[in-house]
Amino acid sequence: MSYRSINPYTKKVSATFKTLINDELIRRLHQAELAFTKWSRTSITDRAKLLDNIAALLEKEKSVHAEIMTSEMGKPISQSIAEVEKCAWLCRHYSENGAEFLKPLKLKSTARESEVWFEPSGIIFAVMPWNFPYWQVFRFIIPNLLAGNTGLLKHASNVPRCANAIEDLILRSGAPEGTFMNLFVDYEQTQLIISHPAVQGVTLTGSNKAGYRIAELAGRYGKKSVLELGGSDPYIVFESADLKKSAETAVMARFQNNGQSCIAAKRLFIQDKKFDDFLELFNEAVLKIRIGDPMDPETLIGPLAREDLLTELEQLLKDIIKSGGRIITGGKRMAPDSQILEPTIIIDLPEDSRILDQELFGPIIPVFRFGSEEEAIQMANDTPYGLGASIWTRDEAQARRVASQLQTGMVSINNMVKSEPALPFGGVKASGYGRELSEFGIREFVNIKVVSFF
Ligand code: NAP
Repeated sequence: MSYRSINPYTKKVSATFKTLINDELIRRLHQAELAFTKWSRTSITDRAKLLDNIAALLEKEKSVHAEIMTSEMGKPISQSIAEVEKCAWLCRHYSENGAEFLKPLKLKSTARESEVWFEPSGIIFAVMPWNFPYWQVFRFIIPNLLAGNTGLLKHASNVPRCANAIEDLILRSGAPEGTFMNLFVDYEQTQLIISHPAVQGVTLTGSNKAGYRIAELAGRYGKKSVLELGGSDPYIVFESADLKKSAETAVMARFQNNGQSCIAAKRLFIQDKKFDDFLELFNEAVLKIRIGDPMDPETLIGPLAREDLLTELEQLLKDIIKSGGRIITGGKRMAPDSQILEPTIIIDLPEDSRILDQELFGPIIPVFRFGSEEEAIQMANDTPYGLGASIWTRDEAQARRVASQLQTGMVSINNMVKSEPALPFGGVKASGYGRELSEFGIREFVNIKVVSFF
């Protein structure tokens, strides 16, 4: 197995990296163990200073990192810049609030006094995907560094330059050697890492197949795990909604990152009376999307990250058509040898078709109609996934009623589902377990130690 950086727009290979041999991996695990011992004893003030340095460097080098990202996985450059800025925001959020999140708690008990301390637990191993190649890594490593843990990364094999650039940036910001290491390892070697006694947690963001294998290994060696897996988020528009705004927002909600986002709106549900009006507005907005070179700041949709992912998506599109779906816009590659798929709108897909049990990880959106509120809830929940959901209505009581019945980890009312540093992020059902970001995320991998004074 090798790690290869291939530009999905030009198809040029820019770098290839070999996987580590086991002796070298074992040496690095030892180095990581020594680094944890030192880092876990540093003060939280010093750790917060490192996060500020990382944020400052990210801001200074924004365009360099954005270009690596776009040239490696095809994200439109304006969105790559926004991703780097968001990573800096995350660093500052934890440097400013982390100490408060980890402040000891006092609890009433049979003792004279009981306290809960949030202490470092060890090295955390992350297996990460290519779709948000900086953000995914930062949202694991930043809270962990602040908590006194250290990190090891196995990044997706198509974004090795992003992986190296992140490691280099964190080291140049003043992190001691070994506190964060990028490892070019194969699937087999993840077992060696997870079994190491100093590794105390494992976090994976990616597909269910990869997630369940990593969680199985974590279980075998008794390590805590967090899984952030796929999604098939519903986007529900009730008849009282601001139709124009909901149709315009649906464009970003579905097509951001070339449609390759776990929290993208993957199924649109529109209430009967407003179905035609919504579809007209949405279609109009989709037809205006600029597709092409992801380095062009005006581009909204660029190439999918890998040719094999596009081939799989095209097969899924064929199956959708076979199941009764009808394409009203898009459906083709921009050119036969291009990795860009036109933004595609599907209607008429029977709502009980099991085809959508698979995640639509690209610029394709099926639109369904519903009658009653109950019907919308039933259709929205009729998926193995449970990550996010978006509800559009002017009736707040209805929004609360529906939100309380959706089987998801996140609900956004009158907006698309977005992540931000202050809010917990994660899902239920086949979307995984555990949370990232916020005070919930930083506490996932700490030792919650109780100290009682009698
Ligand atoms: P993927 O194929 O599962 O890859 C994710 C990571 O897992 C990569 O580093 C990959 O390495 C590794 N991996 C795959 N199989 C493995 C195995 N058997 N053992 C060890 N490692 C393994 O997923 P993807 O296609 O990159 O990412 C897309 C998926 O991620 C979508 O389902 C998306 O919804 C989900 N996602 C979820 C969230 C969330 O927060 N819930 C966020 C973003 C993405 P290689 O690259 O070397 O194969």
